[in-house]
Amino acid sequence: MSSPRRVDAVVVGAGFAGLYMLHKLRSEGFSAVVFEAGGGVGGTWYWNRYPGARCDVESMEYSYGFDEELEQDWEWTERYAPQPEILRYANHVADRFDLRRDIEFETRVTTATFLEANSTWHVHTDRGHDIVSQFLVMATGCLSSANIPEINGAATFTGSSFHTGTWPQKGVDFTGQRVGVIGTGSSAIQAIPIIAEQARHLTVFQRTASFAVPAWNQALDPGAVKELKAEYQTLRAEQRQMATGFGSRIERKDGSALDATPDELAQELQRRWEYGGLSFLGAYNDLLLTNAANDLAADFVRNKLRQIVHDPAVADKLTPTQVIGCKRLCVDTGYWATFNRPNVHLVDLQDDPIEAITPTGIRTATGEHPLEAIVYATGFDAMTGALLKIEITGRGGVSLREAWAAGPRTYLGLGVAGFPNLFTITGPGSPSVLTNMLVSIQHHVEWIAECIGHLRQNHLAAIEATEPAQEAWVDYVNTVASFTLFPTCNSWYLGANVPGKTRVFMPLPGFPPYAEQCAHVARSGYEGFALTMP
Ligand code: FAD
Ligand code: NAP
Repeated sequence: MSSPRRVDAVVVGAGFAGLYMLHKLRSEGFSAVVFEAGGGVGGTWYWNRYPGARCDVESMEYSYGFDEELEQDWEWTERYAPQPEILRYANHVADRFDLRRDIEFETRVTTATFLEANSTWHVHTDRGHDIVSQFLVMATGCLSSANIPEINGAATFTGSSFHTGTWPQKGVDFTGQRVGVIGTGSSAIQAIPIIAEQARHLTVFQRTASFAVPAWNQALDPGAVKELKAEYQTLRAEQRQMATGFGSRIERKDGSALDATPDELAQELQRRWEYGGLSFLGAYNDLLLTNAANDLAADFVRNKLRQIVHDPAVADKLTPTQVIGCKRLCVDTGYWATFNRPNVHLVDLQDDPIEAITPTGIRTATGEHPLEAIVYATGFDAMTGALLKIEITGRGGVSLREAWAAGPRTYLGLGVAGFPNLFTITGPGSPSVLTNMLVSIQHHVEWIAECIGHLRQNHLAAIEATEPAQEAWVDYVNTVASFTLFPTCNSWYLGANVPGKTRVFMPLPGFPPYAEQCAHVARSGYEGFALTMP
């Protein structure tokens, strides 16, 4: 039997996190291998090829800032780039930095076991790789494990079924078909207007109505792009000062919505609506802090909905009742207007729940909806799903699944007590999915690389979050979240979309104070971590 291959670091996943991690490790002189379940790079943008998929953070901001030549050379064509363009960008990055030679595609990591005797990770894949590394970096993605609900009879359906997050590479043509879409989150809201144009008939099965604000997507103006590129690094620095990691260039009021007069409020919300996109929630600084402020913004959007949707009964069903922004705000192009089309029908599952999927359609309490295709736009087992699918075993033979039985516990969202030399990129307990993910990913990759460099420089064998530091961090994340309205609805941030999943608010609101704390920890010689000699 041959002995396992040895590298300094194993990275799991070749999305934006894994690609930059590999580049950074190599440029710091470490050997690394990346394992990627998909057939190519790009992660989210490799898998989510459903019609209408595009980013909801503007392309000029939703991109790497670590390499000035890269950001100057790459040309985004639209305000919100479509999925194929973002995937081309990921491929360009992989080629530009010659990353592919260290990536094993179509290879899923199945187990990772910490060997206490020599402080290394022993990693296995479904293609028989057997590899030992000092460090294990989980770049497995927060939204990469599809959530497919168990609905009675689903296996008997004789038409075609798709999940938005595992869309066929060759695309799907719905022309002439009766299509059902289950779900009305961001993915559904992007796909529905386009499917409605193709399909003979579209039935949308809605469990919770979503808030949406317009994208006003358009081709980028080359003059504006040139101007922005002239000060790109300034923009990147500004991003890091924003709670969400983007949107610094929009004029801000910075006050409470409750202090605005009705006219000022209407004007500001209208200005944000006309600007488009997620920055709507940045209109005032308390929209996600108090119900009274939130109601003002929510009512503004509900009124817009009523102006767009012609049939008042349909508008009623589409009207969201939760706090706006509690679930991720959707950014749309013609979503609500799609319900004015004669070939589109809305089923409100609150009144008319799904009973079963039959060989020929979906049966709800009021009757059968005949379908040739079902699209599951039902989201993801977010933040922990991909990690917990791997058998990760830490010190003392304790599995990550056991350690996280009552919900994920991390220190800084980067390390886990009991799992030395394991790092999570955008893990639970970090700002992650509440930010422009490219900003968070870069921050984590750079922090991890610096940390690994520190260990090498000081001839240390291992770094591990201590229990007390982790305990305090989990409390801190819960406290910060409790000051916001985020925990008030059944969102995937809380794990509420997956039956049986422990409900814990997983991300930490607010990027800049978080980044400061991470910098402090590094400066202090990794306070809250135990560092061990070989
Ligand atoms: P991913 O891109 O998810 O990559 C993780 C990779 O790990 C995947 O390719 C997966 O196959 C691989 N993997 C997982 N487990 C294993 C294993 N066991 N073995 C081997 N490989 C494994 N964020 C924003 O900030 N702005 C946006 O506009 C935005 N739009 C989005 C649109 C969609 C449709 C979705 C689903 C998400 C969006 N996000 C957005 C979030 C998005 O996930 C991140 O922006 C970013 O792409 C995540 O990169 P990542 O590398 O961390 O993870
Ligand atoms: P999602 O936001 O979790 O939405 C899933 C939808 O499916 C929800 O409407 C949910 O209803 C519904 N659903 C889940 N299980 C169901 C069941 N058993 N029966 C009926 N309905 C069910 O997932 P997503 O739309 O894929 O988006 C996930 C995240 O990815 C987004 O929040 C965003 O961060 C990112 N994303 C971004 C973009 C973008 O614009 N760039 C696009 C897509 C995704 P409930 O609300 O009742 O749970």
